[in-house]
Amino acid sequence: MPDLARFPPNRASTPDNWAASLLDGRPFFFGTTATRSHLVKSAVVLLSGGLDSMVCAGLAREAGFSVIALTIDYGQRHRVELEAARAIASRLADKHIVLPLNLRAFGGSALTADLDVPKEGVEEGIPVTYVPARNTIFLSLALGLAEASVARDIFIGVNALDYSGYPDCRSEFIDEFQRLANVATKAGVEGDRFEIHTPLLRLTKAEITLEAKRLGLDAALSHSCYDPSPDGRACGQCDACRLRAKGFAEAGIEDPTVYA
Ligand code: ZN
Repeated sequence: MPDLARFPPNRASTPDNWAASLLDGRPFFFGTTATRSHLVKSAVVLLSGGLDSMVCAGLAREAGFSVIALTIDYGQRHRVELEAARAIASRLADKHIVLPLNLRAFGGSALTADLDVPKEGVEEGIPVTYVPARNTIFLSLALGLAEASVARDIFIGVNALDYSGYPDCRSEFIDEFQRLANVATKAGVEGDRFEIHTPLLRLTKAEITLEAKRLGLDAALSHSCYDPSPDGRACGQCDACRLRAKGFAEAGIEDPTVYA
């Protein structure tokens, strides 16, 4: 059974102190009450198959949660990401749900429509790889799964430092979604509140890469590229590839990514 005793029951859990505690190595408490702290709680972790979501799942597990991983098969161009999610879940999750929800029916993004993925580097503004309202949709699904599973903790590996400027990766969005979760659900209005954990929110890609190493996670299992070759090799040019490579370079860790 995971050891929850190292997480003292006297600290509020917010995205800010979550990340701060990761950075300075302090132990962190996830919001159980003292009377429940002997129980192993479940958390729903949104697992895309990318490096960030893998580290997020690893941190949830390290914190003592039983991990229910939720992967959305949304018709993403980078289908190999789903295989990565399965490989990661087989190591970190106690349960894995791959939910088909084809957002190609909506389109509107280079990831879900026949639009070119930008390859010129991370630029100002919100790029065409933004999938309309994706994290609102995904967190809503995670919330439904969490309430049905009697899990009150939801982990999402959003990052607002080394990212592409997507609005639904910022703390303003997460704070509002948590508020919504607690007025939109039976559990929430009955006082059994949901908490959205964003342990990577204020970490750099280098810090996330170092967390993967510290947790003993195999980064080669994860997939980040938006536009891989048919055999799953990374393009090395899209924003996701550039940010991932930057993380490994700045962390001084060998990049296991296989490039086309
Ligand atoms: Zn790429």
